[in-house]
Amino acid sequence: MKKTIKGLNTICTHIGELEDKEYKGAISPLYMSTSYAFEEVDTKRYPRYFNTPNQEGLSKKIAALEHAESALIFGSGMAAISTSLLSFLRSGHHIVLQRTLYGGTYNLITEEFNKYGIEHSFTDAQEPADFEAKIKPNTKVIYIETPSNPLLTITDLEGIAELARKHGLVSMIDNTFASPVNQNPIDFGIDVVIHSATKYMGGHSDILAGAVASSQENMAKIHSLAKNLGGSLSDYTVWLLERSIKTMGIRVRAQNENAMTMAEYLNGHRFIRAVYYPGLESHPGHLTAKSQMKGFGGMLSFELKEGLDASKFQKSLRLIKPSMSLAGVESTVLSPTMTSHSLLSAQERKRQGISDGLIRFSVGIEETDDLIADIEQAISVVSM
Ligand SMILES: *Cc1c(COP(=O)(O)O)cnc(C)c1O
Repeated sequence: MKKTIKGLNTICTHIGELEDKEYKGAISPLYMSTSYAFEEVDTKRYPRYFNTPNQEGLSKKIAALEHAESALIFGSGMAAISTSLLSFLRSGHHIVLQRTLYGGTYNLITEEFNKYGIEHSFTDAQEPADFEAKIKPNTKVIYIETPSNPLLTITDLEGIAELARKHGLVSMIDNTFASPVNQNPIDFGIDVVIHSATKYMGGHSDILAGAVASSQENMAKIHSLAKNLGGSLSDYTVWLLERSIKTMGIRVRAQNENAMTMAEYLNGHRFIRAVYYPGLESHPGHLTAKSQMKGFGGMLSFELKEGLDASKFQKSLRLIKPSMSLAGVESTVLSPTMTSHSLLSAQERKRQGISDGLIRFSVGIEETDDLIADIEQAISVVSM
């Protein structure tokens, strides 16, 4: 029989919901117990085993969203990333990673993995050939981020999946920037999909969480390490995250549309030097993005014209907030040099193409006329 996959917003709203058998309430009941019966039950439940009713319900929703057999929810994106990586790597192994990584992942690899005898190589660029050039006999995992932070570079999912199969490696992606609304890497053959659910899944800048989706077999490995490392998410936050994901499809599609409008506006602006958005035809990854993404996402970055003060520009914004994180319904901007990439050396930033004047823009769901008016007034302050 053909498996019927529900449409995005139906999955967001309904899959994995728990039935309120007693009172017939409309939403999932919240089970806060940290202690469950152990006799006369099939499952020994405990929050750190990732198997409470709310954890299991939300995991089903995330598996459905990523077209995966199985999924787990974690206490943070980094808990999801570290647990996933360590499930497939041990002392003597080697991993190939895209150079343009989320800062926390870069630090985990460069500061911690050496202590455990896990070797790594970063690619020079994002083409499958750049990854293949770094593969060694002891390589076990290939790790990508697309679109990447903060320049929104695009990596070819099918090309990476094929390369991983050819060399018998596990392919992993940090799919946070795209969200499951815009990109489902498992459809292209990628093995393990990771999210910082703090971002588009949460969507309101008030939840710290992570998620991983993959095959039953891979998830069994990840689950067994996860229980021992203990990075689970409290049930209250699981329940809030379920509520947030109900509107994820609507939110992210609105953000896609707004980001496209903002990218086009900025792209033609006389005081803007460069715009990085995969939805623009001028973006080098545009065609690949078009072939593997359903929408181009809500993230973009841009550089002001030489001589305009990027810091003063950000301080002059009134509606758009300078903010550390991203992907909320509210628009925010950030300077990678001052925040997410501040721990990299100036040389490493230059190597990744991150200038001091670069501004990362997380486009929210406000009316774009208001966002444009805000940018116009801030530009007029710095261009006077
Ligand atoms: C925020 C983020 C992470 C880390 O997630 P936390 O939930 O903060 O631990 C990982 N990858 C990307 C791309 C992110 O934006």
